[in-house]
Amino acid sequence: MFPNRRDFMLQGVAAGAMMGVPGFLHAQIPVGDMTLDVVSDGHLTLPGSFIFDAMPKDELMPILERAGQEYDQLTPPCNLSLLRGNGRVVLFDAGSGSEFMPTAGKMLDALDALGVAPDDITDLVFTHGHPDHLWGVLDDFGDALFTNAAHYMGQAEWDYWTDPNTVNTIDSGRQAFAIGAERRLAVVAEQMTFFNDGDEVVPGVGARMTPGHTPGHMAFEVRAGNSAVMIVGDSIGNDHVALARPAWESGSDQDRVLGAKTRVGLINDLVASATPIVGFHLGHGGIGRIDKAADGFTFVTEL
Ligand SMILES: [Zn+2]
Repeated sequence: MFPNRRDFMLQGVAAGAMMGVPGFLHAQIPVGDMTLDVVSDGHLTLPGSFIFDAMPKDELMPILERAGQEYDQLTPPCNLSLLRGNGRVVLFDAGSGSEFMPTAGKMLDALDALGVAPDDITDLVFTHGHPDHLWGVLDDFGDALFTNAAHYMGQAEWDYWTDPNTVNTIDSGRQAFAIGAERRLAVVAEQMTFFNDGDEVVPGVGARMTPGHTPGHMAFEVRAGNSAVMIVGDSIGNDHVALARPAWESGSDQDRVLGAKTRVGLINDLVASATPIVGFHLGHGGIGRIDKAADGFTFVTEL
C-alpha cells in the first residue's frame, strides 16, 4: 500500500537532510515490497519558447503565474527513478552526463547518497533517446558507465535514433540530439535488449507506448499486488501547462499533435485509476498524482 501523507513527507525530509542539500526534496515511495526513489540529475535550463511558442499567450500567462513559472526561462528538474527489490536495482533513464548542460548530469552524486554505485545497477531502462535521458549512459571517457546492467529500449525508439537518416529528417534544432544518440547507442548496443508496447521489461515493470514526445517514447507501470506507480517520463512534460491544458500542443514534443493525444489519454487513465506517478520533469520531488481541478488538472504530492 502507499504511505499516508505524513509518512511520505517525513521520508522526504529525512532523505533531504541526508543529502545535505538545503531545500533538496528527495522523494521515495514503496511499491509492494520494492522501493522507488527519485534520483535527481539536477535540472535543465531552457527558454520558455521551447515549449510555449504555439500556445495562446493570454490564456497561458495566468497558468504560469499560478504555478510560479516564468515565460522566458524554465528550469525543469530531472528526476530519474530507481527501483530496488527482488534482488534487482533498476534505473530508469541515465541522465544527461557531462556534455549536455552544466546544470544537469548530477545523478552520480545522488546515487552515491543512496549508497548505490553505477556497478550496482542491474537493469537500465530508457523512456526515450533525448540527451537528458540518454547521454549519461557513457562515462567521461566515452565508455559504457553501467557495465553490469542490462540496457532496455523500446524497439521503435531504438530504430529511430539508430537510423542514419534521422539526422536529416529531425528538425534543425534537434540535429545534435540525433548525432549524440546515435554515437552513444553504438557504444552500448551489445548491452541492449528491445521491447514493445505491453511487454514486461523486467519483473513487475510493464511498458506503455506513449508516442509523440519522440516516436517510440515509453512509460512504465511498476506493479506489485495492488500497488502501482506509473513512470511517465516526458509524456507529461511539466506540472503546470501540461496538466492545466493537456490538449495544447507543446513545442517540446517532436510530433506535437500525437504528443497531445497521448498526454490526454494517459492523464484520463491515471485520474480514473488514481495511480501515482513519477514525472521526469515534474516539480515538488517528482512523485505525486494527478487530480481533476476546476480548470484542467493539477499535480498533488499527497498520495
Ligand atoms: Zn526530458
